[in-house]
This record gives sequence, structure tokens and C-alpha cells, in this order.
Amino acid sequence: MKTGEIISDHAWLIKSTRYGDSHRILTLLTKNHGRVDAIAYGALGSRKRFGGTLDFLNLLQIEIQAGRGDLNRLVKCELVSSDINHLLAQIKLNYQQTVAVLSWFKLISKIIPRGGGQDLDLFSLLANSLQAIAIHPLFLVHLVFLKNLLNRLGYLFDFSRCLNCRGQSHTPFYFELEGGAFYCSLCFKKPSSYSLSDCISDEVWSYSANTLAYQQIPLNELETLLMDSYQHFLGVQFDCFEKIVA
Ligand SMILES: [Zn+2]
Repeated sequence: MKTGEIISDHAWLIKSTRYGDSHRILTLLTKNHGRVDAIAYGALGSRKRFGGTLDFLNLLQIEIQAGRGDLNRLVKCELVSSDINHLLAQIKLNYQQTVAVLSWFKLISKIIPRGGGQDLDLFSLLANSLQAIAIHPLFLVHLVFLKNLLNRLGYLFDFSRCLNCRGQSHTPFYFELEGGAFYCSLCFKKPSSYSLSDCISDEVWSYSANTLAYQQIPLNELETLLMDSYQHFLGVQFDCFEKIVA
């Protein structure tokens, strides 16, 4: 963005920090410009400023004026009239769903640097995941989100079969975090701290598996494995997040 240039985009607010007495510094994940940070002058001073829309769990139409360096300014912000905002209103009423979605926002804000993420299309990953909440169990949507975000970041793990023999029947399976390798019980060599009681069909990650496949997912083991992957590969500490899988 060039100084003075105004961009218009759809965005999720993923982080908001108080700045001075009446301003806020926002981290926005936009549809076409990746992560954009901006100052919202007067956002704390008056609820009416920006139409009271500056909240998490709103799909926003924003206008941002690029300043010098990182100092962008939020010029305009309103709610997009879209079905997804009706859906988000429902999510806001559900504590567990809200906690999960806020943990996704927090995760993205920790991983994607300012001005980054243009080519990852995380905006649509979020949109798809939010829509999936209305259809699928939350634990599943959460695990699919964590796995698909790793994919977008270039960490492509195959949990569908043994890396060595390509077999799917010799349970349990083991994941070696070091090399991102997944082995069946016949092929794994070093003792591994991540065991999964079964392999996981690739169809799960696109929600195209049948219900039976979902029932076979070793939920807790998989959540631990994915969270530890974020720590190992991206340096993200998960201490501050509640576990979503009960
Ligand atoms: Zn094997």
C-alpha cells in the first residue's frame, strides 16, 4: 500500500488493542490484502463511531488509508449485509463456539505478520469454517480448521495412511513431529510420543467423509498433536487457549 492510498475490502477483526484514551489498534484479516493493521481514531470514545460495528464476529466492509510505515488509518467500517452475519449472531450466543472462533483469530494474529498472508486466502478459510459451525459438530470444525491452516502455511501432513507401507490397517499409528511423518505400528522405528488409535481419512478435512469416519477420529490425540505442531513448527504457545475438544 502506498502512503495516502485508500483500500476497500471485506475483513474480519482478529485483534484489538487499546491505544491512548479513546483509540484502538486493530488487526484485520482482509479478503484481498492479507493482514492489515490500522488505527481506529476515536473508536473507544464513542460507540457510534464506526456504527458500533468494530467487534469480533462481524464481517466488515472497511476502508483503510495507508499511512507512512505501518500507520494505517481506518476511515470507514460497516457491517456487510450477508447471511454470514446472521450466522455469526447465532455463534455469539454460544459460549463454546465463540471461544473456538476467538482462538482461531488469536492463532492467525500470532502467525501472520503485518502486511503478510496475501497469498494464503485465510479469509475464505475462516468464512468456510464459520459456515461449517452451523452444520457440523464444533470439535470437528475446530480440528479441521487447525489442520487446514497448517496446510495453508505449507505443513502438509498425511494422516490417511502409513508413509512407509501405505497401509491403513495396522493400528495404532504414530506421528513423528521432527519429520512430520506418519507410520503404522509395523513401520515406526523410534518411540514416538504421538500415537493415534486410527488413521484419518482425507475426506474428513473437507467435511466430505460420512458420519462413521467422524466417529472414528481419535479427537483428543489429534488435538494435542495439532496444537503441538503449531508450537514445534511455528513457535505458537497454546497455553492461553482452552482445549475445544472435551
Ligand atoms: Zn506401515
